[in-house]
Amino acid sequence: MLSDIEIARAAQKRPIPEIGAKLGIPAEALIPYGRDKAKVDEAFIAGLSDRPMGKLILVTAINPTPAGEGKTTTTVGLGDALSRIGQRAAICIREASLGPNFGMKGGAAGGGYAQIVPMEDMNLHFTGDFHAITAAHNLLAAMIDNHIYWGNGLEIDERRVTWKRVMDMNDRALRDVVVGLGGVSNGFLRQTGFDITVASEVMACLCLSRDLEDLQERLGRMVVAYRRDRSPITCRDIGADGAMVVLLKEAMQPNLVQTLEHTPAFVHGGPFANIAHGCNSVMATTTALRLADYVVTEAGFGADLGAEKFFDIKCRKAGLKPAAAVIVATIRALKMNGGVTKDNLGPENVAAVTKGCANLGRHIANTKGFGVPVVVAINHFATDTAAEVEAVRAYVAGQGCEAIECRHWAEGGAGAEDLARKVVQMAEGGSAFAPLYPDDMSLWDKIDTIARRIYHAGDVIADKAVRDQLRQWEAAGHGNLPICMAKTQYSFSSDPALRGAPSGHTLPIREVRLSAGAGFVVVICGEIMTMPGLPRHPAAENIRLNAEGEIEGLF
Ligand code: ADP
Ligand code: MG
Repeated sequence: MLSDIEIARAAQKRPIPEIGAKLGIPAEALIPYGRDKAKVDEAFIAGLSDRPMGKLILVTAINPTPAGEGKTTTTVGLGDALSRIGQRAAICIREASLGPNFGMKGGAAGGGYAQIVPMEDMNLHFTGDFHAITAAHNLLAAMIDNHIYWGNGLEIDERRVTWKRVMDMNDRALRDVVVGLGGVSNGFLRQTGFDITVASEVMACLCLSRDLEDLQERLGRMVVAYRRDRSPITCRDIGADGAMVVLLKEAMQPNLVQTLEHTPAFVHGGPFANIAHGCNSVMATTTALRLADYVVTEAGFGADLGAEKFFDIKCRKAGLKPAAAVIVATIRALKMNGGVTKDNLGPENVAAVTKGCANLGRHIANTKGFGVPVVVAINHFATDTAAEVEAVRAYVAGQGCEAIECRHWAEGGAGAEDLARKVVQMAEGGSAFAPLYPDDMSLWDKIDTIARRIYHAGDVIADKAVRDQLRQWEAAGHGNLPICMAKTQYSFSSDPALRGAPSGHTLPIREVRLSAGAGFVVVICGEIMTMPGLPRHPAAENIRLNAEGEIEGLF
């Protein structure tokens, strides 16, 4: 089997207008970025608003393990399979963050014969959206320090500036910095830091906005600092929202590319899945739904985090009604959930697979709890045995659900046709989607509902300061916001080592943060890293251009 990059490089890409034409997008509504990428013109998108929407299919997964699940690979494989069985299909996924590519290998465009191309571009600068977000974010940061420098008319408490700077690079040395060194002409000394661009609230705003007007509203509402009396200062108070929208005008338009089998793919936006909601832009999803009969999309992490936030934040706020959900599982990851260590995943172990199925079973029940029909995709790895696959099939059947083996990684869309047929059958049967909790529930009760119903926690604990903070936000009119949980992706609990389907555990809440622009309250359970570092031997050491001018070592 060739490597992902070798397969991608050999792809026979079709001209991008041909890909757009599959969805009825006229060539003049495509703004080309190079030869094989285009943005879809905002004016064209605005004209689609009264078209009916196609069916939205969510691809999610069991709790991730280092063994890998293949959500993106399955999203792409399912999109291709739907095209093959005659549906007008489109794919919507996130853009990739630049920084992590240079740390550990692992692309964001799928794998094997289920990939989106051009994958090198997608994993690197792509159409520059993240650079625009970085610039817009840092413009606001510069204007805050500038405001303080010129007399601080807003009476910003310099110790309580919450708006940091961002960069799309893994650079731990920038996590905590002091700015304003070097004398009076450089402003006031204050401690701040850098986050990675994908962790920026600007990213979350861009991904949840319906249009540019909505984007400006959201950016304006972002809280950037507090006064000594703790009253908030917003981006609008600083006067940066208008200029930020100017910088983000192109970035707001969804990017169109293609799969190896020429299915149209919208790759747009990439909010961090832990401190934000973790899925591609509302603009891309709604545009795709107005142009295609089936839209396959992915939510980050396992279903406890990714699907929950997809349903309760994105679908709720954008008025989307998912028609079906696919839960991706691998025999290897089920074994790890059943207690096997990473070096022992090779040999057949039906008992461990069966034990690990408890994790899958919980995700099936949780997802069904949102009123969405569910199917399990077993993403086939070469080491899987027939007995192991049969064990999963039997377990899933016992949960009133079906598990379908898929071979799209090795075979492309042809390997996922059974899954595609099942998805069509489920989607045609209708969905009764409803979010987990109503808007008007108190913030604390929303957290408690997620913890008990999705994580099966026995208790939620938090300091008085956290509860007081939630009540203050309710008093300030933010009580109707949904919750954005920030928790380890490895477990239903807040303990990453607790695999399987733990019950009765306690969920400790460390901190809560208001993302007033994006429109959610972030609830932090455990350590959350917003600026990653590089490993001892970063992948960057092996990335280079070869004599043919091709990129080597990226994947
Ligand atoms: P996720 O979206 O869940 O993070 P990806 O789809 O990006 O996962 O896949 C992660 C990695 O695993 C990719 O490098 C991909 O090539 C690889 N992979 C996925 N499915 C398979 C498979 N069936 N066999 C071998 N490798 C796979
Ligand atoms: Mg992925």
